[in-house]
Amino acid sequence: MKAWILHDIGGPSSFVLEDIDSPTPGPGEVRVRLTTSALNHLDIWSSMGMPKPALPHVAGADGAGTVDAIGDGVTSVAVGDEVVVNPSVSCGSCEACLRGDTLFCETYQILGEHRWGTLAEQVVVPARNVVPKPSILNWEHAGAYGLVYGTAYRMLRRARLKVGDTLLIVGVGGGVSNAAMMLGKEMGAVVYVTSRDPKKIEKAVFGGADGGFLSSEDFGKALKAATGHGADVVVENVGVPTWKASVGSLNKGGRLVTCGGTGGPNVELSLPRVFFKHLEIIGSTMFDIGEFADVTQLVGSGRVPVIVDSTFGFDELPAALERMQNGDQFGKIVLRHE
Ligand SMILES: [Zn+2]
Repeated sequence: MKAWILHDIGGPSSFVLEDIDSPTPGPGEVRVRLTTSALNHLDIWSSMGMPKPALPHVAGADGAGTVDAIGDGVTSVAVGDEVVVNPSVSCGSCEACLRGDTLFCETYQILGEHRWGTLAEQVVVPARNVVPKPSILNWEHAGAYGLVYGTAYRMLRRARLKVGDTLLIVGVGGGVSNAAMMLGKEMGAVVYVTSRDPKKIEKAVFGGADGGFLSSEDFGKALKAATGHGADVVVENVGVPTWKASVGSLNKGGRLVTCGGTGGPNVELSLPRVFFKHLEIIGSTMFDIGEFADVTQLVGSGRVPVIVDSTFGFDELPAALERMQNGDQFGKIVLRHE
C-alpha cells in the first residue's frame, strides 16, 4: 500500500510517500481500505516529535472506508462494510474500559499518534473502533467528523452546557471549535465565537453562530457590551494569546474547558479571580466509545452539519498540511484516497 511515512522528526516536511507492505489484522482487528482521511493538528505535532512517535510512523487519526480484511474472532463487522474509524483506541477489557471510561484505559492510544494511522491506503484498528458509515454522509464528511466532533462533544458535556447557556468559542477556524459551534447550537446554547480573521467570524455567523468578536480585542468586554453578560462556558484551544480574555469573559460560576494550546502551553491564572467568581477550569481530550457513538448519531441524523474546508488528493498531503499550518482553514481538511 501507499503510505505517508515519518522516518525522522523534522516537522511537516518530513512526511515521505512510500510503498510498504499492507498491514495484517490480528485477532479482534479489522483492516479498512480508506476512501478519505482528514488532517488534525496532531499530525503536525507528531511530525515535530510532540510527543515523539516510534519510527517509522504513519500519522492520521480520522478516516472512512471499506473493511477489506478481518482478524480472528471478529463477528461485528464483515468484509465490504462501509465504516468510519474511531481514533480513540483502548483495550476493551480492563476495569476502566468495562465501565465505559475508555479514555482512562491503561493502554489508551490515539490512532496516528501511538499507533499507525490513516495517512495510508489501509489502516488496522480493533473491530470495536469502526462504526457503520451514516448513510446521509458523503465520504468527505464521514472521514472528517470523528476526532473533532468527538472531542468537542466531550468538552461540552464536561462543561455541563445546557439550554440557554451562553457559549463562547475562542478561535473558531479550527476543527474542534467549528464542531463545538455546531454541537453547541444543537444543545440549545447561544453561541458566540472569536477569530483573528473577520472573514471567519462572518462564516461562523453564516453557519449559525449568534455573533463574534476579534480575538485580538478584549472579547470578554465586547461580549458583555453586546449581551449585558458574560459566558457560561468558554471553549479554549488557543492558550497563551487568548487566555486572559477567555477567563475574563466568564460569568460567575462559569466553566472554561480546554483541549489544547496551539498558541503556547503555559498560561497565567489569577487565583482570586477563580475562587471569587467560582470558576471551573476543565481539561478534556478525545472522547470515550459512548461519546463517539453519540456524535455519530448526531451527524448521521443530519441535525449537526460537518464542516469541510477543502479536499486534497492523497498525494497532495504537503499542500494540505501547509494550509492547516497557516491557519487558513475553516473546518476540516480532507484527503481523498481514491
Ligand atoms: Zn482498557
